[in-house]
Amino acid sequence: MPQKARDSIKVPELPEVETTRRGIEPHLLGRRIRGLIVRQQRLRWPVAPALKRLLPGRRIQAVERRAKYLLLRLDQGALILHLGMSGSLRVLPLDTAPGPHDHLDLLFDDRCLRLRDPRRFGAALWTCNDPARHKLIRHLGPEPLGESFDGDYLYRQARGRHGAVKNFIMNARVVAGVGNIYASEALFRAGIHPTRPCNRISRERYGRLAAGIRAVLQEAIEQGGTTLRDFQREDGSAGYFAQRLLVYGQEGEPCPGCGRPIVRRVIGQRSSFYCGRCQR
Ligand SMILES: [Zn+2]
Repeated sequence: MPQKARDSIKVPELPEVETTRRGIEPHLLGRRIRGLIVRQQRLRWPVAPALKRLLPGRRIQAVERRAKYLLLRLDQGALILHLGMSGSLRVLPLDTAPGPHDHLDLLFDDRCLRLRDPRRFGAALWTCNDPARHKLIRHLGPEPLGESFDGDYLYRQARGRHGAVKNFIMNARVVAGVGNIYASEALFRAGIHPTRPCNRISRERYGRLAAGIRAVLQEAIEQGGTTLRDFQREDGSAGYFAQRLLVYGQEGEPCPGCGRPIVRRVIGQRSSFYCGRCQR
């Protein structure tokens, strides 16, 4: 399928963050942090100077993901990482020379975890409590790939609301981590028009939408597993994958369902792509 011009920077969405988690986990699990190098303190929020005191000596017990946050659970406390608009993580030998956007290294005995983030919307935050209760995380809705997320859940959440369904499924309090691309793709698969009021959609159609959301995310994660294999590449480019997309970025191209041109329209200040015939 021909791809039209796409954003040159691929913002890390849930699948990229999950692929990153799977890529770095085997390199970090059970290892003890020896130190921290902060080359640029000014990320989305300032990197707390206290991290240099708090992190060394702690052992990484789990590498988890919640929405687009990576949670490094330590034997005491946790480090919360966010990749922002342009961040990527690499596991590298300790003597690897840093590039201009390599802002933070977490040091281990024989390797480091390096955060590269040209646009500096990423974050590295410490919490001494369960990271799931952090103020950025505790109000998030369920994971779209988790067991509690399904069509019945969406249908119940939509009662008493009346906004466009696309904004509804991109609301992180409703469901966590469904970005703009995946919302457009899932609505196409479910045959639901993106501006349809969320309280005017049947339980059955919400079942198809929940399945569509899970499918597009799962496919992207599986693709990421094959295209973003190498988390130890020294060039440090994010290498985020371009998924085959049916409608997103396909304005004017024929709809894969009916052949009519795909339409682009701004909904909630975000570009939406859909087929006016197949989506109702
Ligand atoms: Zn169509």
